[in-house]
Amino acid sequence: MNSNFEKKIFKPNFYNLSYSFKEMNLIIDENIKRNDSIVLVIFDIENFKDINTIYGYDFGNLVLDKIMSIIKEIYSSNGSLFRFCGDKYVHINCEKKGIDNIISMSEKLLTRVKEPIIIYGQGVCITLSIGISLYSNHTSHPQDVMQQAEIALEQAKEEGGSCYKIFNKQNNLIKKKLLAMDLKKALYMKQFLLYFQPQFNIDNGSIESAEVLIRWKHEIEGLIKPDKFIKIIEENNFGIEFGNWVIRESCRQNMIWRQKGLQPIPLSVNISQGQFYDKNFISNLENILLEFDLEPEYLQLEITERIFIDSYERALNIIKNIKSLGIKVALDDFGTGNSSLISAMSLPFDIIKLDKFFLNNIEYDLRKRQQTTVIFKFLKSINDNIIIEGIENNTQLEFVKENGFNKVQGFLLSQPLECSNFEKLLKQNKVVEEI
Ligand code: C2E
Ligand code: MG
Ligand code: MG
Repeated sequence: MNSNFEKKIFKPNFYNLSYSFKEMNLIIDENIKRNDSIVLVIFDIENFKDINTIYGYDFGNLVLDKIMSIIKEIYSSNGSLFRFCGDKYVHINCEKKGIDNIISMSEKLLTRVKEPIIIYGQGVCITLSIGISLYSNHTSHPQDVMQQAEIALEQAKEEGGSCYKIFNKQNNLIKKKLLAMDLKKALYMKQFLLYFQPQFNIDNGSIESAEVLIRWKHEIEGLIKPDKFIKIIEENNFGIEFGNWVIRESCRQNMIWRQKGLQPIPLSVNISQGQFYDKNFISNLENILLEFDLEPEYLQLEITERIFIDSYERALNIIKNIKSLGIKVALDDFGTGNSSLISAMSLPFDIIKLDKFFLNNIEYDLRKRQQTTVIFKFLKSINDNIIIEGIENNTQLEFVKENGFNKVQGFLLSQPLECSNFEKLLKQNKVVEEI
């Protein structure tokens, strides 16, 4: 009997057959069709690769077989057991009181695998983690059961391993993982929108450039701002893909405006740490400019100090490479977090963006006004291209003018605008009221 046929009849406990994700989903579907509820358990051996590396694959296979028989022995009641993706196992239980039994069996298994596994007289110790998810009619989608068990497994590992976790939507880590899944989907479904916040020259009221700010157009929750999701994107493996998409879309949009005959302005894009250090970053920038036949002066990049705190030399090199393409680099959020005058002075930034921190309470706090004036004077002496962020009222605007700055960005002059509204503004090129 060939292995595919064996798999097709969903016969469990084939020690040497490993089921794929797709096959597992088919098996789960079959079980769901026949039962109102199921409990799904995933078992994962931590760092199993190390066993293969140290003792060889044959030995590794025997360890896998041994663990399979231990799991089988403990979870032998009503259910099926599968080897999955090489070194994981999946148990499907369709009993009415499945979950209570599963918990006590999981505790038993975790205690049992603490004993060394003996093969050819050689004892190996392994760490096992367990993720559990439940499916019952109407509460979740069949395809989610597997993914939810994997998320619970991740949680078990993040808590140090050697434990079991049951999937629960309310858990923080689970929420994060779910959000990451939704964001990945959102990228694929094109649910992200570019917003544009003008950067004005207050000497003549013209828009000199604009910052690109991302928004998520969520099906249910409406427009979501980046502080709710940008960190999750940056922490996940699609952060680079997302970042490249933002740069590409910005250049594409800029080219469209140019083709419509609007006055060309640079668009300033925020860059994450992962993107900045990605080995393909510079070549991607080059390709995107080429693709849209866009002159490099119409793209600017904003980075924050967090990015280069650990590897100053590497950061310096990357900044030089970006600049050699003709793209300007701005130091964003200066005045917050880890800002240091040393890096503002010694790294070759074209632009420094001063955070709204400098303007907070400037209306009431005389001492802060005086101190800020001194800092502003110093900053002007090290960089003559400074943008003041976060101007919300006229007192702040006046203060900025008094200090001799003319490039500003803030809600007083314009909120970040959706593409068509920004386009209207660009056509008129005059200040709008808050929207
Ligand atoms: P940021 O780069 O410092 O962007 C400026 C933020 O300040 C924006 O918030 C903007 O709406 C807000 N802002 C502008 N004027 C004012 C004002 O007068 N008062 C106040 N209180 N806020 C003002 P937003 O759009 O929510 O973005 C937050 C942060 O998310 C950005 O901070 C940036 O760090 C990040 N971000 C946004 N888009 C992207 C992106 O495409 N990629 C990456 N990696 N990060 C992004
Ligand atoms: Mg920014
Ligand atoms: Mg900023």
